[in-house]
Amino acid sequence: MIFRLIIFAIIGIIIYRFLGGKIPLLDRREEKKNRDSENDFTQVAPTSECAECGTYMTEDDAIIYHKKSYCSNECFEKAQKRIR
Ligand SMILES: [Zn+2]
Repeated sequence: MIFRLIIFAIIGIIIYRFLGGKIPLLDRREEKKNRDSENDFTQVAPTSECAECGTYMTEDDAIIYHKKSYCSNECFEKAQKRIR
């Protein structure tokens, strides 16, 4: 008897969702999953632009000097020569 009630409940939920209804408990879990994948996306290493040649590189590779970032020593030296 109780199995029949469960089956009716499941069918009811399926119809409810089919008609566009939302079940807060389940949908919240889905939203959280989506938010987590967004976080994964933003965890990509931040990039910065070389102040000399405009190349994009990760901040790990950048040479940062006076709040400007350079992709390589060459660009850094070029920029220094231009300033002088
Ligand atoms: Zn550069």
